[in-house]
Amino acid sequence: KAKESGKGTYKFFTPDMNIQNAKRLVMEAELRRAVDNQELMLHYQPKVDAESRQIVGMEALVRWVHPTRGVIPPGEFIPLAEETGLIVPLGELVLTRACAQVKQWWDMGLPQVQVAVNLSPRQFQEPNLIEKVSEILRKTGFPATGLELEITESIAMHDVDNTIETVKKLKDLGVRISIDDFGTGYSSLSYLKKFPLHALKIDQSFVRDLGGDDDGASIISSIISMAKAMALGVVAEGVETAQQMEFLRGQECQQVQGFFLSKPLPPSDFLALLERQQETGCAVTDVMGGKA
Ligand code: C2E
Ligand code: MG
Ligand code: MG
Ligand code: MG
Repeated sequence: KAKESGKGTYKFFTPDMNIQNAKRLVMEAELRRAVDNQELMLHYQPKVDAESRQIVGMEALVRWVHPTRGVIPPGEFIPLAEETGLIVPLGELVLTRACAQVKQWWDMGLPQVQVAVNLSPRQFQEPNLIEKVSEILRKTGFPATGLELEITESIAMHDVDNTIETVKKLKDLGVRISIDDFGTGYSSLSYLKKFPLHALKIDQSFVRDLGGDDDGASIISSIISMAKAMALGVVAEGVETAQQMEFLRGQECQQVQGFFLSKPLPPSDFLALLERQQETGCAVTDVMGGKA
């Protein structure tokens, strides 16, 4: 139809849409360049044992260090990467970098904490995901048992049989799978039982609700007891206050992650935290100055 109205006219696009489109195209081109050009960097956020407050793991979180716009958070480019398919090379880069980095820390004799990497729906559905993951583990020499992959409920809901198959294969490799942002999707207990999962990560929105109306608290308690019944680990995300921390500890939530413990850190700062834990056995809040 656009053709019928004559060459050179673009009747379907309002000026606004053209600007949106142009911005998107620029960003896509820039993101493509970023993936090739080492403009992406990883920060690491500790996952902390709620009882001992020792670092037991970390989550790798990607940042785009844009040459003129500065640091761009993943919320502003992961959706575009996902739509354009750029998430596939981007995800490979992130996984390779995370495995290589953490392997280096393990080799230094530092506490052998696990690293978790986020997988978006498109990455998870790549037909050669298993081969890619094994290849990256082989190339970096990082043991599969040190790696955890975080997927969302929406992935698990998409194509049940294939998802179960993929999760099983990853488990056979030795990799752990957790459900990120748990509680925001629609997965049921009976459904989740079909997957050989390692842990549930309680979505930050419920933690944020603590202390307000009572919804957050009761949802968190039921997620924790459900996880226990299924012999799954449980991690609370977005812990920002001593009160939230105390509540979660009282509910026997095993692990916590959030600004109260530590923000996501550049590698050198994370390394310093690990070294300090190694040398002094010091808990993460003593280091970061949290006051629980
Ligand atoms: P996520 O996997 O749920 O990661 C947790 C997000 O919460 C991170 O945001 C983290 O910085 C933030 N956060 C942690 N503690 C707190 C807290 O106490 N308070 C608040 N307000 N926020 C906290 P970030 O780094 O901006 O990442 C956002 C999302 O982008 C991630 O959510 C994940 O879905 C996605 N993402 C990040 N890195 C990657 C990646 O390498 N690959 C893919 N596919 N997705 C990624
Ligand atoms: Mg995550
Ligand atoms: Mg999350
Ligand atoms: Mg999230």
